[in-house]
Amino acid sequence: MFGKKNKDDSLKPGTKKTPNLKKLEDLYYAAEDARKHAYAPYSDFQVGAALLVRPNEDSVVPINKIYTGVNIENGSYGATLCAERVAFAKAISAGVLEYDIGQNPFIAIAVSAGEEEALPCGICRQFMSEFAPELTIVTKADGQIRIRNLAQLLPESFQLNKEETFQVQAEKAAQAQTQVPEETETPEVSVEEPAVPEISAEEPAEAETTENTENTEIQ
Ligand code: ZN
Repeated sequence: MFGKKNKDDSLKPGTKKTPNLKKLEDLYYAAEDARKHAYAPYSDFQVGAALLVRPNEDSVVPINKIYTGVNIENGSYGATLCAERVAFAKAISAGVLEYDIGQNPFIAIAVSAGEEEALPCGICRQFMSEFAPELTIVTKADGQIRIRNLAQLLPESFQLNKEETFQVQAEKAAQAQTQVPEETETPEVSVEEPAVPEISAEEPAEAETTENTENTEIQ
């Protein structure tokens, strides 16, 4: 359960999973290259991201793969996607979380917004923390590659216990499969006829002063 590791030693750089600076620099250039595909007609603020993934041995995805993403804006504004989340969505939809949901395959993400340094927004920090609370964040400022840890950018992040959640889901699924559907009494259905509104059978009084057959009255 990688979510539990977000406590003490997760902030230490240089863990065995952290790639070297050259690799992180290459990752940044992959983000910069992806940036040209950004769809940002409203803000004109193009962002590219590159996510380095190292799935487990059983994964359907080859090892050390990079998934890129760009920001995709929307006229509703609220439906806009950030480059970081697009990169994660691409990686997850390609199957990098198979077959062991507890293993964190995400190593680092680089974010490029051109000359300006762009750090992940709050939504993306929470989104990425779901999968990789210790993710290495790579940006560039003043011509220098900058490396941070997601836990620095989002300390004490919100996490649900995935193991318990999955266990509960699995138990519920198992119960649903073993339960034989009981025969239930057919609920009584009201057969009452709707009350027919009374219709006056009286002929409308004919107007004395006009032969107009239209049912209009002039007062
Ligand atoms: Zn974002």
